[in-house]
Amino acid sequence: MASSSKPSCYGRKAVLPLDFLISGGGPAGLCCAIALANAGHRVQVFERAASIGEQQTSGVVLAPNAFKILTQWDDSGASMVDVGVIAKSSPIYRWETGEMIGVHGWDELVMEESGGKHFYSNHNEAWGWLHKIATEAGAKVRLGATIVSVNPETPSVTLASGETITGDILIGADGKTSIVRKTFLGGQDDRRSMGTVVYSGNIPASSIAEDPVLTEFMSKSDSDMVVWAGPGHTALVYPTVSFAVPSSEEATHIEKSPGRLCGMHVYVPDSDGVPPGEDEWRSSVDPSEVLSLCAGGDPIISRFINLMTSVSRVKWCDYTAPQDWAHPSFKAMCIGEAVHPMPVCGMFSASMVVEDAAVLGNLFSRLQCRGQIPRMLQAFQSIREDRCEMVRQADTLTLQSSMLVNGPDQEARDELYRQWSKKLSGQPGDYDDLTMQQWETYSPIFAYDANEATDEWFVRWGRPIAEAIGTHRSSAVAGVVVHESIISVG
Ligand SMILES: Cc1cc2nc3c(=O)[nH]c(=O)nc-3n(C[C@H](O)[C@H](O)[C@H](O)COP(=O)(O)OP(=O)(O)OC[C@H]3O[C@@H](n4cnc5c(N)ncnc54)[C@H](O)[C@@H]3O)c2cc1C
Repeated sequence: MASSSKPSCYGRKAVLPLDFLISGGGPAGLCCAIALANAGHRVQVFERAASIGEQQTSGVVLAPNAFKILTQWDDSGASMVDVGVIAKSSPIYRWETGEMIGVHGWDELVMEESGGKHFYSNHNEAWGWLHKIATEAGAKVRLGATIVSVNPETPSVTLASGETITGDILIGADGKTSIVRKTFLGGQDDRRSMGTVVYSGNIPASSIAEDPVLTEFMSKSDSDMVVWAGPGHTALVYPTVSFAVPSSEEATHIEKSPGRLCGMHVYVPDSDGVPPGEDEWRSSVDPSEVLSLCAGGDPIISRFINLMTSVSRVKWCDYTAPQDWAHPSFKAMCIGEAVHPMPVCGMFSASMVVEDAAVLGNLFSRLQCRGQIPRMLQAFQSIREDRCEMVRQADTLTLQSSMLVNGPDQEARDELYRQWSKKLSGQPGDYDDLTMQQWETYSPIFAYDANEATDEWFVRWGRPIAEAIGTHRSSAVAGVVVHESIISVG
């Protein structure tokens, strides 16, 4: 697998180590802490949660483009695999009737060429894993540290305790309600609903195993993620942690892991007209609320919902990112969901924060002098902005495709699943075309290598900047106005 060889930036330490302050110790903040600490910087992360790994969360999907970076961060590689399940195939059922439409499979060749794996994990377990790797890399993660105000000019953060901490660069990795982004925007919160709300929670695998109907349902195939697709609605159930208990070949995933959790996400229309809440992931919803919204759906969906624990209600929302991701002082910048909105519980969205961190770490491993900082921050936006927008659109289409109203588009989707079912069951068919189609659709997302993209950016745009050292010329580089060459080529 391509992930076994580490990119050239690993091992390169910044000539000028800086003090980074990171607002938010979610996936973006912790990934960023790992990448910056690996690049030789001093990193402090401030996270308002009192503990990591004990939140009310559910499953998270990590795509091959993120998986390959995560395994590079952990020298043992294998331990990342211990906090999740490698995806293979998903049966798709009709929301209204429960009739099986077909099976969607991840082609082995496509995965191999992508250099990673499609991976399901429990958000808490993945979060805990990132926390471990970040602290091992030398980052200081302060829990129960709520930031009440930030000064992007100094830059500094002030905690609820009254303590103020100053550093060289402040990174806003504090999610879609980011205090850092709001500071850039004059305190404004401009989030708006995209018309869909997601109920997200866990189901203990043991509860499924105790229900004979669900056990039989799950044993119909050895697939991992089960999907119901219907007009305006979709539901997903998937195991999220590895199967440590050895058992027979015939056992289903659920039977192999009775002590483990499955993630469940239920997408329904958002019709209450209420603006998105401040901390929706920590909302606690009674499963009966979800049940009432799924009346008319396949009764098996309700059976799963009845077993859900710790349900959160999160609106899929959009917001206008600041035109410049870095503050004019060039001492603060936003990353992750704080600056590029993504669909909630999307198939590719969580992976974007891993890429963000890899790019930032790669850039700042090249730092030689303070004058380079503004260009580094602008380079980050140059590399990330279009990429995040492309993936946001792809993820939006993927989710919307599961919620299509009945008609020609839904029929074309269903036909594709039928073709995949034939391929997976070994029936004759034109599989080369199917593989090519999957490759063409997903390779722009999965085969992307954030470190390669950063290296290529430097080959393309960094060398002229380096060659201009001392000439004090002005030149436009990748949308970045450079007055003096201050970026080194690595
Ligand atoms: C509690 C929680 C549970 C989640 N569970 C899931 C899940 O099960 N499945 C899934 O697909 N996605 C989940 N998500 C969303 C997912 O983490 C993000 O969509 C995505 O990974 C982007 O991550 P991020 O780090 O940019 O933002 P977030 O994940 O939103 O992380 C932002 C972090 O910043 C912290 N923070 C915010 N404001 C402050 C402040 N003022 N001071 C200090 N800290 C602050 C938050 O507590 C949070 O930990 C969850 C998010 C949260 C916050």
